[in-house]
Amino acid sequence: MGFADLLLPPACAGCGRYGTLLCSACQRIMRPAGSPADRFLGSDSGTVIGEHLVLAMAALEYEGALRRAMQRLKYGGAARLAGPLAIAALPVLARLLQVSGPAPLVPVPLHPHRLRARGYNQAQLLASALAHGAGLRSLDLLVRTHATERQHRLSRVARLHNLRDAFSMAAEARPPPVVIVVDDILTTSATLEACAGVLRSAGVDRVYGFAIAREV
Ligand SMILES: [Zn+2]
Repeated sequence: MGFADLLLPPACAGCGRYGTLLCSACQRIMRPAGSPADRFLGSDSGTVIGEHLVLAMAALEYEGALRRAMQRLKYGGAARLAGPLAIAALPVLARLLQVSGPAPLVPVPLHPHRLRARGYNQAQLLASALAHGAGLRSLDLLVRTHATERQHRLSRVARLHNLRDAFSMAAEARPPPVVIVVDDILTTSATLEACAGVLRSAGVDRVYGFAIAREV
């Protein structure tokens, strides 16, 4: 948190109005990712099913106020935004939980170098806030062993290649039978797939994925 954050009243990360971190007007205009009717099907843009993942869901379209808020969380040092962003995404997590059953939330880990530079792992903050809101546990089961190239401009195949061996189990982690891997933004399912592969190899039976935002 910067010094200015302590002196000024909070400004909405979506529209800049003072008063809250993420105002109710901005939360109202956030669009769900995909249409609710077919959200659990593979063809829907908010849902991706892969080799190791049973199902992944993203809560909200990565646009407008949500996009600005997510960028401030990830690059602007606004760790406090994890709380209101998780609250905005909770109704969709509840729908995933209807399919998966209650399961611990496992954040996608950051490489220690990037963690040191940023000061926090936004996926871990989101997983903690979501777990708190949904009455679940958040477990740091995974570590990032290789710093990967930025994924943004890579194709799906290149992403999967880039992520091979990027993750491994945290030391002494005893995996539960079902987990939900949590990330901030879902672009392709490559990151979640890579995490799911590691968790399945370690003995997790079913791996689901959840992201706050869906970038298409
Ligand atoms: Zn606002």
